[in-house]
Order: sequence, then structure tokens, then C-alpha cells
Amino acid sequence: MLNMIRPVRDIPCPRFFRRFEAPEQVDGAVLKITGLGVYTAYLNGKRIGGDYLAPGFNDYDDYVRVQTYDVRDYLEKDNLLEVIVGNGWYRGRIGFGEKQTCRWGEQYYLGARLEMTSGGDRCVVETDDSWKATLSCLVTSDIYDGETRDDTREPGEACGCTDADRDFHLVEQFSPCIRIVDTLRPELVCTPAGEKVLDFGQNFAGIVRFHSRMQRGQKLYMQAGEVLQGGNFYRDNLRSALAEYTYISDGNEKDVEMLSTFYGFRYMKVEGLEQVCPEDFTGLVLSSDLRHTLEVETGHPGINQLMHNSLWGQMSNFLDVPTDCPQRDERLGWTADTQVFVNTACYQMDCKDFYRKYMRDLRVDQVRYGGGDLPAYSPSLKGSGNHGGAVWADAGTIIPWNIYKNYGDVELLRENYPMMRDYCEWLIRKDQEDGGTHVRFSAFTFGDWLAQDGLTPQSSFGGTEPQYIQGVYYMNSLNLTAMAAKVLGEDRDAEHYGRLADEVQRALMNEYVTGGGRLAVETQTAYVLALRYGLYRNRETMIRSFENRLTRDFYAIRTGFTGTYQILPVLFECGMPEMAYRILLRESFPGWLYCVNLGATTIWERWNSLDSEGRITGTSMNSLNHYAYGSVCEAIYGYVMGLRSEAPGWKKARIAPVPDGRLGHARIAYDSPAGRWEVSWRIQEDGLFSMCVTVPEGAEATVVLPAHPDGEEILLSGESREWTYRPALDYAHPFHGKTRVADILACPQARLLLEQAAPKACARAVEQYSEFPIHTLEELLENSGLDAGEREALLERFSSLCVLP
Ligand code: BGC
Repeated sequence: MLNMIRPVRDIPCPRFFRRFEAPEQVDGAVLKITGLGVYTAYLNGKRIGGDYLAPGFNDYDDYVRVQTYDVRDYLEKDNLLEVIVGNGWYRGRIGFGEKQTCRWGEQYYLGARLEMTSGGDRCVVETDDSWKATLSCLVTSDIYDGETRDDTREPGEACGCTDADRDFHLVEQFSPCIRIVDTLRPELVCTPAGEKVLDFGQNFAGIVRFHSRMQRGQKLYMQAGEVLQGGNFYRDNLRSALAEYTYISDGNEKDVEMLSTFYGFRYMKVEGLEQVCPEDFTGLVLSSDLRHTLEVETGHPGINQLMHNSLWGQMSNFLDVPTDCPQRDERLGWTADTQVFVNTACYQMDCKDFYRKYMRDLRVDQVRYGGGDLPAYSPSLKGSGNHGGAVWADAGTIIPWNIYKNYGDVELLRENYPMMRDYCEWLIRKDQEDGGTHVRFSAFTFGDWLAQDGLTPQSSFGGTEPQYIQGVYYMNSLNLTAMAAKVLGEDRDAEHYGRLADEVQRALMNEYVTGGGRLAVETQTAYVLALRYGLYRNRETMIRSFENRLTRDFYAIRTGFTGTYQILPVLFECGMPEMAYRILLRESFPGWLYCVNLGATTIWERWNSLDSEGRITGTSMNSLNHYAYGSVCEAIYGYVMGLRSEAPGWKKARIAPVPDGRLGHARIAYDSPAGRWEVSWRIQEDGLFSMCVTVPEGAEATVVLPAHPDGEEILLSGESREWTYRPALDYAHPFHGKTRVADILACPQARLLLEQAAPKACARAVEQYSEFPIHTLEELLENSGLDAGEREALLERFSSLCVLP
């Protein structure tokens, strides 16, 4: 497709160039181009296309993507085509271990083919030995460390180019490119330490464009950071990533931006300018260019911010590969992080082609390096990240299945079925090697990563037995593969994997569920998995045990990567909406709103990334832009707002919101593959409830009106409907005698009323909360010194408290 060339001499970050004359009259001009590591191309001094960090991040031994641009408008009579090639993922620092650089090679390569048509004639300029290369303005170039650009640098004598000394499998770009998807204007902060820091107001992945009015030889130096500490610039949680930028001016006034790197940051410290004018700087938000598909809003500012944070987490970590974080010396395609987030991601953006590429990368790793197993991160950097273990490696079944559910694309499922099947076969072999008990895997797993029930609050491994998690995910992968086989007409596989999944389930029941129906692993995550994957003898018994667990944890979430994305859906499905809301709306540590209240603009890696004073709790693994816990939004969109898919590609949905007065109202509009769905609900002060629903043409929905006195399900197809009614539950005034004291204490108005009207009872409630978290208001008031009449009057006052925002 393209002839790849390299300079005959070793030149760091070279500039390839070629002059050519265009035909008299050019009707069309199309450039196909790629380069390794990452390239930026210019025609007659103008940057070509809007793509950044092309050709992106994947295993370059397997394929290299080629980008295509219409360059007709850039052409003149005499032309100069120039391409600057930086190190990128291919040649710069990436991943862990000693051989962090040059994972795919040391040479820089370029392939380009410009085809101009003029009348019936074609004129082609392509990479061959007529090209030259020199030093470029890039002195250093690295994904983790940033870039040094010297515009005063003499290019030195040009050298020739020669054909590449190796073959590349070139393919057309088949996934969304990285582009500028938003811009941010900073404010200048002068810190107590005397630093000049630009605050972009939002944590994000991207680069900075600045208008340079610098003198020749003047040097600008910038460093990226996510958070201020004590009001000062801070960056220790980036670990070894230098995340810096140096620019040496040639004295020409111009706009300058980074060419071959990106940062995860909210703050940029600036040095080397006499005066820092924030108007001269713009944050360029870089992300894979995906269509946004969601509009959401509630009456609760904290929940709105949380949804915003989840979206920005996605934008920041969808850079060709779904990464864990965009700032520190990692930025890898960790499999669990994106597996837990996949459904949230698909509500927020059209992710089909993005995940198509990721699934292809997973398959490359599985076949080339995994022997059927799947990696902890993909690209696995040639096998360095091999063996993901439960939850991580299971991305290989969970992502294809969920992408099928979200987009209804059977062919894409077929494309990925071999990966699902081979992973199951690997698991089965492993199981056999370990004695064939189905529940005693010897392989490593990350378990319930970063859960709050580990040995210490900073422990990486949570408290849930890894073998149990491994067993459940083994069963789940078998089940998903059986379901995929069924869709694809692979009946024998469907039967085979289905039967095995049942066997594993029996083994798990035998090992972990007692004869009386109790669970042997007593963590929140263990209960979540038991209820979600059907590991119980009696569902009600299991639900009550889970409730009990949560009560003993004072309703504080203690789950990690494995439990967190599933806990709220399980609570809603199991008929425990108050518990779900207790966890979702918790303002203090640990909880989502705790982070929001501390000013988070993206999702943190840890529940305790910052302490309640805003101090960073550790630097070894502490990112403020990790989207995994943003997966809570799947529950907000699906249950709070009530819009869930019920058939592949959103041909059918279930609309069953679970309202809460503290949100007041909620609205979701989702552009699904089947068209635009809309649901909105509102609670009025007089207790009336209204709801509007739009079902797209050609799709149908089952609507469940919340707390409707008649309680029936309504079928709608391709239409809009509205309802207003008095629900059986008074959402606006939720307090009554049976309200738990915990909920009174968590609500500022209710707590105030209790404090004022029954101060002794209130003091007792606070003091004894940890002993009796399940006490009700009635029970509390019983020994409050108030007589029966006073108690009744007080309950009356509670019942008229309106919680609407
Ligand atoms: C990453 C995670 C990842 C984990 C694996 C971390 O360093 O940032 O998000 O899933 O390692 O356990």
C-alpha cells in the first residue's frame, strides 16, 4: 500500500521532506500516510488534518494504521511536504521494567503516497530514496516525559532515505482518530511558593497551545500536575513521568503546541516568561473522536458533577486505547478498567469502532503471546502484561458480549467469537491442570482491586477471596460464550459451554454457599457477585444477608474494581433502592460524592485518593483521573433515570426509573443505534409525580411507572407519552416513623429538626449509631422524654419535611 522508508543515518526525531511540483490544474489530491513512532505532517508549512499522535497505539508488529487526507486545498505550484516523526509509544518510554523504550524498534519510519489527479492523469509522489531527512525541531519526545522543542536548532546537513529494512502490515485507519474534542481557557494562579500556575479548571488529557511572543533563544518551561497541595504546584503522583515541556523560541511570534506527547493534568506550572498572560494559553483536550450520545441532568448538583466526571474520565482515557489513567508512567490499556466501564462508556458515546479496535488488540495479544489467555493490559507490549487473571482477562468475553448488546452487530460478535472461545478453552485447561475442581485456580488475580476491606486502607488487594472471584468469573465467561455461540448458531459450543458453566456454578455453590443458604465469603463484593450471578439457595435469604453486611459496614461502600460497578445495579434489582441511594448519595468518605465535594472534576483511582483535607494519601499509585469507578453511571442512567436496554442494539428497552426526592427531577436522552430514547421524571412539592417517555420509531419499551397505584406495566412502541399521578410513595416527603435513624442523620434538614426538637434523642442517636444503625425514628423517640402526643406531633413535622433540592 505504501513504501516505508527510513533515513540512512540515525537522526533522533527526524524531519523527512520532499519538494515537488504539482501539475497545472489539480482536480483532486489525496495523501495516504503513516509513520513510526508518531508523526505530524505539513504541506507548505500547514499542518495536515486534525489528527494527533497518529498512527496511534497498538502492537506495531501486528499492524500499522494508515491515515488518509484530502490535501487539495494545501497545494501550490511548488510544494514542500514535511513530516516530523517523534518517539511515541513505539520508541519512547512505555510500560514497566527495564526495557521501557524502543519496544518495537529503534529506527524511525515514514510511508506516504500523495496522488494528484489532473484531467485524466495521475501524478504520484511517494516515499522513496528521493526523500531527505534532517534534524527536526524536536530535541526530545516522549509520551511520559513530554517534549523539548528548539525552534532555533539548525537542521544540519540532510541525509538520504532508503527503503525500510523490515515489513509492516499496513492497514487503513479503521478506528476513530485522536483529535481536539474541546478547548479550555485557564486562569493564572500565583502560588504561596511563588510559582505561576495555569489552572484549566478541569482535569483532562491533552496538550497546550500558546501564543509565543518570546525573544530568540528565550526558553519556556512547563510542568503538568493534577492537583495543588497547600496551594502549591504538585506532581509527585505522576511517579517517574516527567510530564514536562521545554520550548526555545526562534523569535517569531506564533502559536506553538506539543507535537508528540500528551499530559493528564489540570494545572501547568510555567517558567521562563516575564509575564504569564493566561489569554495566551489554551488547553487542547485530546481524545478519540467519538460521537457523544447522552444528555443527562438531575436536580442534584453533586450527581450532575459525578456524571460530568465520568464523562471527562472517558474523554481523558479514550486515547486510541482505553487507558487506566492519562498522567503517570502507565497510561496502559488495562483490561479490567475498561471492562467494568464498558456499559457506562456506551451510554456516553458511540464506542463501537473504538472497542472494535481494542478487541482486535486483545486478540492480537491472545494469539501472539497468550496461548489463549488474555493480558492485564492491551497492547500487552509484546507480552509484558500477560495473564490478566479474573476480571481483567475476562474483558475478552465481557467486552464483545456487551458491545453486541449495546450495538446489536452480529458480525462484530462473530469476529470476536474466536477470542471468547479460546479464552474459555484456556480457562478450562487451567482448571484441569489445577485438579478440575472448578474452584481452585492457582493463577494470579488482582481480585477486588483497591477495595476498602483489604488489610489496610491503602492495600491494593481487597478482602474478597480471589479464588471465589476467579470461580465466578470463570462461570460468567463460560456463560457469555455460550450465549454468543447461541446467537451465532454455534449450537454445539452453546451447549458445551452452557453445561460447563452449570457445573462450575454447582461447584461454587458447594464451596461457598452453606446448606442454610449463607455465603462463606462475607464481603460486600462477595454478596454482589452471589446475587448477580445466581449463587444462592434462596434469593431472599441472600438479600437479607447482604443487607446485614451493609448495615454492619454502616452503609459505607467497601467494594473495589470488581464489586463497585455492580453493587448499585444489584441493590436496585434486589429491591433495595434505599440502600442504593444511601451509598450513592453518601457525602462523606467513602463515596462518590466525597470526591465531588473535594472538588474532583474526574473520577479518582482510589476511594481515598485525597483525605478529607484534600491531601494526597500516597504517591505510588494514586491517579485523580481513573474512570473505573465512574462505572456507577451505568446504574444512574439505567435505574435512577430508568433507561435500560432489553434487546441487542436497543431495539427494546425497559423504562423503570427508581426516583428519589433528593434528586427532585432527572432527564436522560440517549441516541442509541435504534434512535433517540428520552425519559424524564419530576417530583413536585405537592407529592405529584410526572414522567415523560419517548421511544424511537421501530423500537419498543416496557414502561413501569414508579409507585403507581395501579402498578401495571405499559407497552409502548415508537411513541411519546406523559403521565402525572399521585404515587403510592411520597417521594418529596420521605420521612416517617419507620425511617432509619441513619437516614435522618444523613439529611441535613432532618438532622436539624431532630437536634432542635429532641436534642437528647439526637445526641443518643449520634453516640449509638455504630451500635444500632438499624434503629428507626419511632424507636429512637420512644425513650426521648417526649410524651405520646409530643412524639406524634414531631413525627408529623418529620413527615412534612420536603427533601426536594
Ligand atoms: C492500574 C490499574 C490496573 C491495575 C492492575 C494499576 O497500576 O492503574 O487501574 O487495573 O494496576 O491491577
